[in-house]
Amino acid sequence: MNQNITVIGAGFGAVTAIKTLRKNSPDARITLIAPEPTLQYYPSLIWVPAKIKSRSDILVDLKPLLARLNVQFQPGRVTGVEAEGRRVLVEHAGETWAIENDGLIIASGGRFLKRLPGIEHAIAVCEGIDAAEKIRDRLASMTGGTIAMGFGTNPNEPSAVRGGPMFELLFGIDRLLRQQGRRDQFKLVFFNPSPRPGNRLGEKAVDHLLARMKKFDIETRLGAKMVRFEADKIVTEAGEFAADLILFMPGMTGPAWADNAPFAKSPGGMIQAEATTKVPGFDRVYVVGDSGSYPAPDWAPKQAHMADLMAVAAANNLLAEFAGKPATTTFKWELICVMDMLDRAVVVFRTEKRQFISPPCRLLHYAKRLFEWWYLRPIR
Ligand SMILES: Cc1cc2nc3c(=O)[nH]c(=O)nc-3n(C[C@H](O)[C@H](O)[C@H](O)COP(=O)(O)OP(=O)(O)OC[C@H]3O[C@@H](n4cnc5c(N)ncnc54)[C@H](O)[C@@H]3O)c2cc1C
Repeated sequence: MNQNITVIGAGFGAVTAIKTLRKNSPDARITLIAPEPTLQYYPSLIWVPAKIKSRSDILVDLKPLLARLNVQFQPGRVTGVEAEGRRVLVEHAGETWAIENDGLIIASGGRFLKRLPGIEHAIAVCEGIDAAEKIRDRLASMTGGTIAMGFGTNPNEPSAVRGGPMFELLFGIDRLLRQQGRRDQFKLVFFNPSPRPGNRLGEKAVDHLLARMKKFDIETRLGAKMVRFEADKIVTEAGEFAADLILFMPGMTGPAWADNAPFAKSPGGMIQAEATTKVPGFDRVYVVGDSGSYPAPDWAPKQAHMADLMAVAAANNLLAEFAGKPATTTFKWELICVMDMLDRAVVVFRTEKRQFISPPCRLLHYAKRLFEWWYLRPIR
């Protein structure tokens, strides 16, 4: 009998999961549930403000890939899971129904915490192409002023933080304004509740980032908890400062629909998983990428690269379970971040055994652009 597999999401984890499933199980019936059959290529959002990339580069139509892989697309938003994982509840165009499965892979991404009062005064690039275009348009319309950029955390889940893209935006906007000959009309401020922001990247990387901010005349407001945002200022426990444009990446939590599912959640609200990506206590249910919380080193990143590695493990473990074998495949933790600065980049690399940061290099900027093309070529 052909196995009936449901994958939730259309992001990095979901796409890698369906590719791996189809490669290793030509006959499985695979259904992918997501609001749109579209992958958002988040890593290139940082280039939208400088007009290096546009909407059509970021949004990747998955319909051709789904047809090639013979995956059925079910439009809709998952609202819950029942029957020990065997039934997924979906809402679309005002209607709700249930989709049954023999195996489930959850890859519906994370959700950004919006608890900070006045958060509506900030633009959060993590929200995708609309937010990135808003930043592009605001920058173009401003003739000067203060641009404040920072990121927050989830106090209950230290790994649920995404600082890398904010450093990229910070140095990218600095470089863009210099290229446009108007950097002297702007004050750039980087703010963060930690005195050493980005410490998951490693001590050397933090030293490098702080030295770079000093070199490029970027003011820092570090070590003070944020209290609220207002239309023209940021208030912290250590005082307040003016901001004409606030760019902020909040800390993350798990998917909202998980409140309507039987799975255990981590302290930070992610779906709890084992090292194999299996959801403990549930047969043939796996979670990958930003939706999950895993046994991990304290520097473990939430990255597309990790979502990909987890998705391969999840798909292979699910197929092993179908074959009556134990789910034993795990994945390796590694942080690889090519941190772009618009015309150059540094690479930050970290595993259990090694860590390094390269000097800034123009070639690495082009390597990051080339990687996007290479990664998306088999998907487009
Ligand atoms: C600006 C920015 C830059 C980044 N740069 C990098 C980088 O350089 N390198 C890197 O490795 N990582 C980077 N990341 C992180 C990376 O994008 C994420 O870690 C990655 O997208 C996580 O993949 P995922 O599959 O878990 O979730 P996502 O890619 O977020 O996909 C989630 C999917 O689930 C769908 N979904 C959501 N809710 C539901 C629901 N209720 N029902 C059904 N479907 C649902 C969504 O529509 C989406 O298709 C960056 C992130 C941002 C925001």
